Amino acid sequence: MRLSRYFLPLLKENPKEAEIVSHRLMLRAGMIRQQAAGIYSMLPLGKRVLDKVCNIIREEQNRSGAIEILMPTIQSADLWRESGRYDDYGKEMLRITDRHERDLLYGPTNEEMVTDIFRSYVRSYKDLPLNLYHIQWKFRDEIRPRFGVMRGREFLMKDAYSFDLDFEGARAAYNRMFVAYLRTFERCGLKSIPMRADTGPIGGDLSHEFIVLADTGESEVFCHRDYLEMDVPGADVDFTDDAQMASIVEKWTTPYAATDEMHDEAEWEKTPIPERLSARGIEVGHIFHFGTKYSEPMGAVVTGPDGKQHAVSMGSYGIGPTRLIAAIIEASHDDNGIIWPESVAPFGAGIINMKPGDAGCDSWSDDLYAKFAAAGVDPLLDDTHERAGAKFAAMDLIGLPWQVTVGPRGIGSGVVEVKNRKSGEKQELSPEAAVNLIAKGA
Ligand code: ATP
Ligand code: MG
Repeated sequence: MRLSRYFLPLLKENPKEAEIVSHRLMLRAGMIRQQAAGIYSMLPLGKRVLDKVCNIIREEQNRSGAIEILMPTIQSADLWRESGRYDDYGKEMLRITDRHERDLLYGPTNEEMVTDIFRSYVRSYKDLPLNLYHIQWKFRDEIRPRFGVMRGREFLMKDAYSFDLDFEGARAAYNRMFVAYLRTFERCGLKSIPMRADTGPIGGDLSHEFIVLADTGESEVFCHRDYLEMDVPGADVDFTDDAQMASIVEKWTTPYAATDEMHDEAEWEKTPIPERLSARGIEVGHIFHFGTKYSEPMGAVVTGPDGKQHAVSMGSYGIGPTRLIAAIIEASHDDNGIIWPESVAPFGAGIINMKPGDAGCDSWSDDLYAKFAAAGVDPLLDDTHERAGAKFAAMDLIGLPWQVTVGPRGIGSGVVEVKNRKSGEKQELSPEAAVNLIAKGA
């Protein structure tokens, strides 16, 4: 992409309304635009990052055996009356009436709808396990939307729903999602810690929030320092091996980790003091087993091997991709701007042409651009006539992993300057060497 033809509305001033760094940087880097309280447009740079994040989520959901669908945002109130949640949900639900006076709502979540899909088609335990997910906008009329896309009213969610014959099957489904979540957040460049979460009236221990530590997080959390060093399962992990899944989950749930809601002082004190980490965190994902809460009232039943009818045992599994972007920025930035992990960076490298219009600078920049594109590093070429300082500041702000500067002096000695955004390290390399170095990570 050439910056002169792109749409990248950077802000020079710090927006007054932004209280936390991710919100400030997303506005300044031209990623998002607020359209109403807690409701945002994704501008081109933001949309690119969102697509990258969603693709990682999708790949890991698919790898774990979940199947993608797409349910609508608008739902019928009648479905929610079947589960009893239409009256229970309260003011967070946006209720709508259509021209025929029918009650609709903008979905805050999709348990009822997916249960309706399930009950319409699935009759036998032989069709299980089944896990259906989608990535779709949700609306929750949060009383205090704040921090940009961190706590929006309209926000994107990946929500998956598992269906199994019995609790044992549901636990295996839960474990698969647990492992998929570890991998997903790691691939987004984040350290996430699964923490015991409230199971409410369902009981049991199958509810975990995946927390990213950050000073600006809304939750107070307590965990063992061991989590900071634990290795996430690799891509070769076998999702069809229930025992392997269970042992990974066991390993990741043995050291103490809880949010303040579930915090247990007596248990916490068993962790040696130097190993205790009490911090703040951002909930980026939540997995939850709820058994027959919806399948029973809504008649989602299958015939079991015993020939009898069983209400299926269910779980739901959410990730907020828009919140995840903010969490990535909270975890990875400096005073000059965002520092994207390569896996989610909007472009693989930025090329700065110091003197557009100069024949040498133009041809070197174009040549690098073509070489990067051919090597699979999606480049952003700054071919504008801004002054040098502004160009460098803009590149730092938008946080591409690599910056390559092409100027008349370097051309004279056959080199370009390559800067790593994260380390700040600079080196002078031939264009070929620059492409080789940067393409390695792509
Ligand atoms: P919170 O406790 O932060 O309000 P929640 O527990 O209500 O969230 P879930 O129903 O568990 O949220 O939703 C699953 C995921 O969706 C969350 O882990 C989070 O990543 C994301 N999410 C939830 N609410 C919002 C929101 N208002 N804005 C952005 N993302 C959200
Ligand atoms: Mg939650």
